[in-house]
Amino acid sequence: MLKKFSVRNKTYSLPIFLPDATLGVVRGLSSQQVAQAKIKGVVINTYHLMSKPGTKILNKVGGIKSFMNWDGLTVSDSGGFQLFSLIHSNPKLGKIIDDGVILYSSEKQRKKTLFTPENSIQVQFAINSDIMICLDDFSPIDASPTRLKQSVKRTIDWAYRCKIEFEKQCQTKKLIGKNRPLLLAVVQGHRDYQLRQKCAEELVKIGFDGYGFGGWPFDDQGNFDYEMARVTAEATPDNKLLFALGVGSPTNIMRLREMGYDLFDCVLPTRDARHQRLYVFNQDPAKLDLHKIKSAKTANWYEFLYLDRGKYATDFSPVNQYCACPVCQNHTKAYLHHLFKIKDGLAYQLASAHNLHFYAQVMKNLK
Ligand SMILES: [Zn+2]
Repeated sequence: MLKKFSVRNKTYSLPIFLPDATLGVVRGLSSQQVAQAKIKGVVINTYHLMSKPGTKILNKVGGIKSFMNWDGLTVSDSGGFQLFSLIHSNPKLGKIIDDGVILYSSEKQRKKTLFTPENSIQVQFAINSDIMICLDDFSPIDASPTRLKQSVKRTIDWAYRCKIEFEKQCQTKKLIGKNRPLLLAVVQGHRDYQLRQKCAEELVKIGFDGYGFGGWPFDDQGNFDYEMARVTAEATPDNKLLFALGVGSPTNIMRLREMGYDLFDCVLPTRDARHQRLYVFNQDPAKLDLHKIKSAKTANWYEFLYLDRGKYATDFSPVNQYCACPVCQNHTKAYLHHLFKIKDGLAYQLASAHNLHFYAQVMKNLK
């Protein structure tokens, strides 16, 4: 298990939780507010940034970090998952072929563009992120064995092409040694143990700075697939970064950290905040040893506080007595309850800032 890693002259201690700043913003929060919540890094979306603001503006400003005025770790995803979701929800809008992803401008399919693994890397260099991710062919949940094999084969082929393009870009831009960004590859294979293992082995042979647990992370009953996460972790080298993409709840993160996962990104804390669901510690986190809590089912170290409940209208205490975030230091439950009731934007902002601080505190405890 890695305890820290360095990229571009900065050292980060692990684990790190990265909220999604899809379009270059953690919804509703300034980069300074995100930093105040003790968040060390964000994940931004290659596919979305490619259209808005576009690579021209990104190249001009020197990348997303200077555009956002964000000093922390920046990971760009490949855009693969968004393309997959788009095509899965409407097959008339594109298709996945061995060369890359074909995208149609509309259902009428008059204009088409091809998004290749090389394109994904080129856009990520315009974004100028610290950690880049290879384009992968997301294994559909309902995929036939043939489609699953195809997804793994493409993921390996595309990772190989991504690496070649990555090295080429590093050379052209003279990004060598400590100035070089990192490149991660994603392990697919859904719930097929052997395919997952094969995918990981082939990617390790090509050689990357880290590996990701990709695909749908739930089993048929909707339970988190810890088994596949373990298979993926065991099939990759201990001295490389391990990223659990799209994961997860504090409990998921706690258990995956034990398996050796280092990086996590998830919409949960910010999405829950928008739905008035706040994370609160049941005890002083300074005295909480998460490594000793093996099963979250037996440990109620945190719970949800639903701000929309009427009882909070007159509750003038902070959201969480154990939270050191600026929101809990300065505001009451009653005030947040009121802000949500009048639908003021500040409500979402304060709730998100608190939830992110909670996640950051969990990471601190897991260090
Ligand atoms: Zn707080």
